[in-house]
Amino acid sequence: MSAHHDELNPLEAAEARFDLAAEALNLNEGICKILRTPTKEVTIYIPVELDDGRIEVFTGYRVQHSIARGPAKGGIRYAPDVTLDEVRALASWMTWKCAVVNIPYGGGKGGVICDPTILSQRELERITRRYTAEMIDVIGPELDVPAPDMGTNQQTMAWIMDTYSMHKRHTVTAVVTGKPLNLGGSRGRTEATGRGCLIVTLEALKRFKINPKEAKVVVQGFGNVGGQAARLMSAAGMRVVSIVEWDGAVHNANGLDIEALMKHRNETGSITDFAGAENVDKEEALYLDCDVLVPAAKENVITSANAHKIRAKIICEGANGPTTAPADPVLKQNGIFVIPDILANAGGVTVSYFEWVQDRQGYFWNESLVNERLEELMVASFNDVVSYAEKHGVDNRTAAYMLAIDRVAFTIQLRGLYA
Ligand code: NAD
Repeated sequence: MSAHHDELNPLEAAEARFDLAAEALNLNEGICKILRTPTKEVTIYIPVELDDGRIEVFTGYRVQHSIARGPAKGGIRYAPDVTLDEVRALASWMTWKCAVVNIPYGGGKGGVICDPTILSQRELERITRRYTAEMIDVIGPELDVPAPDMGTNQQTMAWIMDTYSMHKRHTVTAVVTGKPLNLGGSRGRTEATGRGCLIVTLEALKRFKINPKEAKVVVQGFGNVGGQAARLMSAAGMRVVSIVEWDGAVHNANGLDIEALMKHRNETGSITDFAGAENVDKEEALYLDCDVLVPAAKENVITSANAHKIRAKIICEGANGPTTAPADPVLKQNGIFVIPDILANAGGVTVSYFEWVQDRQGYFWNESLVNERLEELMVASFNDVVSYAEKHGVDNRTAAYMLAIDRVAFTIQLRGLYA
């Protein structure tokens, strides 16, 4: 059995979750209309001279889903298959994610249809600077604060910050987050998403009365989120028994040496054939009997076609959208405790928020302060979501959406409609 095509469409997935939660909340019809529609969508065409002298025109988007609670916040994606619908879905996701962790942001997302793997650094710089110039009245510390996403990184953020600052005639670090440390970035940002996964997983283990030192963990994706989550979980004493990558998986029942596996991957380009583990089937590894499964690679991994095979007690969604909407009821029926993406991976946007706060104050925190505040916020959000789920008899994902939608709706009602 394979998953239905519609199941994999990001906008349909976002709308399905919104509708379910809005119905459970008995949300006012007018507010529902507002929240189903983005506030602003901008499409631009970016003419760029390539290194060989040819001119190419790239399409770029920025969607602000909501600015009710504060500036729009969300990454910019560079990928050949970016669509406006995908950017819309991701922008609304950001609204809910920021509301779940109760930070004063709305939600936004951007994208450029391009293939960063075949463009040179100079070409990427030209695209980024022209994108920024075209968006000069759309983005800003009080308006909309971009960050890296697929295909963009710290360097891209540095170019945006510089271009924006040149137009404003002074240095404006708070226009983007995810910047290099010496350009106004925050300590702890690189590992923030993985650290957030660790924090909420520890809270979930407490509820199951499982000693972290006895917890068996499987992580899919050994990149920024999965790699850091695995490293930090292992350092916290958990047994990370399997890591799953696109080209294979490794297993060690006594727990993998994550630092050594990182070194092995850096040296060989793959996690497979690691001396401290055996190679296993990458599909089967997801279905291992374990305490915690951390899907931290990509979207649409747990679908209606395979949800019944998952044997983990807890799923901590490090990636965005790893579970499709039709898979949710299957996991619920099997009693699996899901820490939904908008909560589980919100550590990244939370430390982005800290970065923006530090930039605006011009006063930088040490790493332990960043981590301490991250923990405080993630634990509070976890408890908000889980108690909401218990109180209303819904699963954690629906609870997270209900809580988020309720917070945004309340703000809109308080502010009223300007006419
Ligand atoms: P990344 O590119 O650093 O890592 C992704 C890893 O997954 C890579 O190692 C890649 O090889 C692996 N992978 C790709 N396809 C796979 C497959 N089919 N099976 C197994 N592994 C596969 O990306 P990242 O920043 O770690 O992001 C991962 C996910 O987390 C994405 O969904 C992203 O949107 C989400 N996320 C990231 C952040 C962040 O701060 N980086 C924050 C929130 C959410």
